[in-house]
Amino acid sequence: MATASIHQGVQPALARIVGASKTYGAGENQVTALSDATLDIMPGEVTLIEGPSGSGKTTLISILGLLLTPTTGEIWLEGQNVAGLGERHLPALRARHFGFVFQGFNLFPALTALENVSMAIQMKDPTFKRPKDEARRLLEQVGLGPRVHHLPADLSGGQKQRVAIARALGGNPPIIIGDEPTAALDTKTALSVMELLRELATTHGRAVVVVTHDPRLERFADRVVRVEDGRISSVDSPRSHA
Ligand code: ADP
Ligand code: MG
Repeated sequence: MATASIHQGVQPALARIVGASKTYGAGENQVTALSDATLDIMPGEVTLIEGPSGSGKTTLISILGLLLTPTTGEIWLEGQNVAGLGERHLPALRARHFGFVFQGFNLFPALTALENVSMAIQMKDPTFKRPKDEARRLLEQVGLGPRVHHLPADLSGGQKQRVAIARALGGNPPIIIGDEPTAALDTKTALSVMELLRELATTHGRAVVVVTHDPRLERFADRVVRVEDGRISSVDSPRSHA
């Protein structure tokens, strides 16, 4: 594998959305949720997606994460436009490239933190050896080493979101996508969860893409993408790497 040196200094995008649009319904009921969105997702970068409710943020990241097929446009992964691939090709691509974190954590209440994460690892790759060891390693990475045997009900909101982040890291996907992952958390906890996501980008080279309403998270971002009425209205780079 002698490809690493080809991109000296210039990182290739991990994923690229080009001219993506999504229209729901037909005729009078037609809603254009997203129009002509173009976005590159780079390794090591935190990208925030901001915009009013209903502006198309979830649609944008769902298209990125292959949870939703765009009506028109391209999604590039591994040098291939995957927008034209059939549904049966998508689960494997999704599992390999993306980890997802949601506002409501979406943990299984009857499973411990360790079991929630190890089950996700097994679902992504049934041949994975010793998934519990890997789950423990990921929970330690997000600062939950002492709580691996707790049930979700016995964890705080911030701790639950850390379990969800550990679960998203299962299978080692290069891109972590969060849909308002801090919206259910108090400010201090939200900032610490965002700090963890920032660290995953800086230290582990992940691309982190986070939808938020909270402008205080901008300090953690390399790029802020604003979405209005289904269009990307601006892209800023608030964070200095000096
Ligand atoms: P946001 O995440 O910014 O709140 P969404 O991407 O969820 O926005 O939605 C964008 C627009 O698309 C909204 O007008 C919403 O009502 C509409 N929409 C989203 N999902 C559907 C759907 N499954 N069917 C019809 N309209 C939808
Ligand atoms: Mg949304």
